Amino acid sequence: MANYDVIIIGSGPGGYVCAIRCAQLGLKTACVEGRETLGGTCLNVGCIPSKALLHASHQLHEAEHNFAKMGLTGAAPKVDWQQMLAYKDDVIGQNTKGIEFLFKKNKVDWLKGWGSIPEAGKVKVGDEVHEAKHIIIASGSEPASIPGAEVTIDEKIVVTSTGALELPKIPKSMIVVGGGVIGLELGSVYARLGTEVTVIEFLNAITPGQDAEIAKTFQRTLKKQGLKFVTGAAVQKVETLKTKAKVTYKLRKNDTEETVDAETVLVATGRKPYIEGLGLEALGVEMSPRGQIVTNSYRTNIQGVYAIGDVIDGPMLAHKAEDEGMAVAEMIAGQHPHVNYDVIPGVIYTHPEVASVGKTEEELKEEGRAYKVGKFSFMGNGRAKAVFAGDGFVKLLADAETDRILGCHLIGPAAGDLIHEICVALEFGAAAEDVARTCHAHPTFSEAVREAALACGDGPIHA
Ligand SMILES: Cc1cc2nc3c(=O)[nH]c(=O)nc-3n(C[C@H](O)[C@H](O)[C@H](O)COP(=O)(O)OP(=O)(O)OC[C@H]3O[C@@H](n4cnc5c(N)ncnc54)[C@H](O)[C@@H]3O)c2cc1C
Repeated sequence: MANYDVIIIGSGPGGYVCAIRCAQLGLKTACVEGRETLGGTCLNVGCIPSKALLHASHQLHEAEHNFAKMGLTGAAPKVDWQQMLAYKDDVIGQNTKGIEFLFKKNKVDWLKGWGSIPEAGKVKVGDEVHEAKHIIIASGSEPASIPGAEVTIDEKIVVTSTGALELPKIPKSMIVVGGGVIGLELGSVYARLGTEVTVIEFLNAITPGQDAEIAKTFQRTLKKQGLKFVTGAAVQKVETLKTKAKVTYKLRKNDTEETVDAETVLVATGRKPYIEGLGLEALGVEMSPRGQIVTNSYRTNIQGVYAIGDVIDGPMLAHKAEDEGMAVAEMIAGQHPHVNYDVIPGVIYTHPEVASVGKTEEELKEEGRAYKVGKFSFMGNGRAKAVFAGDGFVKLLADAETDRILGCHLIGPAAGDLIHEICVALEFGAAAEDVARTCHAHPTFSEAVREAALACGDGPIHA
């Protein structure tokens, strides 16, 4: 048994960032992790492995579609799936070991095993009970099933994102249930590798909550890449047969029932908080109807017990969890941190990438706020044209009177990086004119963001 200032349960982006920040602030810190490796969902079965497969499959796409145009000829690359998986696993290993190194460097103890909270101030890991003045729950999330549908996930034929990251072979066909970020990223990985991918989405558009114009363009772009879409369809059941699965869905517009089958069905209908084995009910921790731990500035209703990341309210994103991890550490150390929930970017790492921050046009309309739109197509961006990435546009929303930036939505090359210029602008309360008057290097994709800002005023230069 040991005494700590802080024990964090879970070593995902919320937990590990929190642990390192606590240690930096002079708090004696331990982090409990039940997995074999540190890093949580994000590093082991989420952000990092999916991006490795997106990168590898994008290289194949480039070789197949664009190399010859640039005079790069030769035999087309073949896919060695086992090697691609080994590359992905190596990337995971490098990252998870990196966290282990950071824990050692910052003197954070890794308590290996599954933790529970028998009472406030105590954390049990295996047979050992440790004491801590502050306990932070960062236990993350797990895949959710299809609401109202009969489905058994075997992680072989009917898989979650975890199974989809390590399929034994590339399937000939795949049905993705859910047109959200995870389903579309993994769907496009397999589509690029030759799988016939059909996405079934309950709503009438993909990527719910996204700026509608961007969502429409995105769906059109993915269609051109070979993905098929069935929208407005409620999946009723998924039956597993010997070598494939059958999906029955009802079209919401006329209640007609249809059945499709595929070698693999990926259930990507969202994630739910993971709290198993923590003993929260016995402890009396207040939960929301959606199964999230209820918090007020990361404090639960139990003195000395806090929660952050996917297990609480808010977007289930690694960077949101990280920011909360930093904030709760600083709060415990007596500082006054602040997380600006209005400026949390969302990125989809397909090709082209999709990124957004701040208000969508739909939200502004609903608020009745007078706004102006500055748009610029990547077709007018020299660098984008040079790298076959002219599809897509930047859409900047600014207040009609004050010119203050309210939101930005991008589809195009490096969108996930470009968005951060606008994140900083939003934090500083900048006007579109501030971005428009800032010198942007030529030729960069970022010039398209500047042009969109110019379009909020007198107009862009290159369109
Ligand atoms: C396929 C996929 C792709 C994704 N891509 C992105 C992306 O590109 N960008 C992005 O921002 N987000 C992405 N996400 C979401 C992101 O992974 C999560 O938002 C993020 O990991 C949440 O961090 P967390 O610290 O709250 O929890 P998690 O990362 O889920 O970590 C929680 C950890 O706690 C451990 N744990 C739980 N209970 C206990 C216990 N009782 N004792 C000990 N250990 C315990 C778990 O084993 C786990 O390791 C993706 C998710 C998936 C599934």
